[in-house]
Amino acid sequence: MNDGVIKKCPVCGSTTRIGKILYGLPDGSEELMRRCGNEEVYLGGCMILPGYPKFHCFECDSNIGKSPILLTKSGGEDYRRITTAIRFREEGRPTLVLEKKDGKTVLEVWTRSEAEQDSDQAGQDSGEAVLTIDEVLRSLNQTTQDPRESLSYTREMTEEEWKELLDKLYTELYLHEWRVIFLKSRFPEGKRWELETGFTKDRRLKRVGVGIFPPYWEELLDVLKPYYGEAGLS
Ligand SMILES: [Zn+2]
Repeated sequence: MNDGVIKKCPVCGSTTRIGKILYGLPDGSEELMRRCGNEEVYLGGCMILPGYPKFHCFECDSNIGKSPILLTKSGGEDYRRITTAIRFREEGRPTLVLEKKDGKTVLEVWTRSEAEQDSDQAGQDSGEAVLTIDEVLRSLNQTTQDPRESLSYTREMTEEEWKELLDKLYTELYLHEWRVIFLKSRFPEGKRWELETGFTKDRRLKRVGVGIFPPYWEELLDVLKPYYGEAGLS
């Protein structure tokens, strides 16, 4: 049991096998040993673990609930300060781009014309364009952009709005702890999605999945849905 600060493991989704990390020298008491055995607590030791994780998931053996800090040679950078773009696409949904450019933060929704969607559907029905693992891996290095889409809605975002969004993604959804690839054993069945984050100094990180979704997927959709909504899309 945890004290309710993290509701599920961002790595594997476990909601039950999460214990609080205790730092420092254990006192060796029976009570402490019992709590360790119950997976109520996890001994973090005397060294502070990178990112100062607050919880341990016994299901996937990950330390979770870390501060959103990207550790680099020059020290740590807060993801909320260095994130410059969020690009999201899920099959059947227009692409959402939230991005800092030319000194502004803009929200963009990119859609495909219905004619193109129809031709795509026809292609799938005839058994063409079966997704391969190589294609998924390759897509990790490509920016989330579909040349068949065109800009259908855009507006400027306020700094406050952007800050609030990043706060939510990193402190409530633990985006910095998500795995990068989500593939189902029955690949390539299922919906395909991509979530790309851009950072300062031209850095980027992309997460992709086919048929399987990250533990905080519903929460992510809840955060992003209003942007689709204001563009008149669901
Ligand atoms: Zn886990």
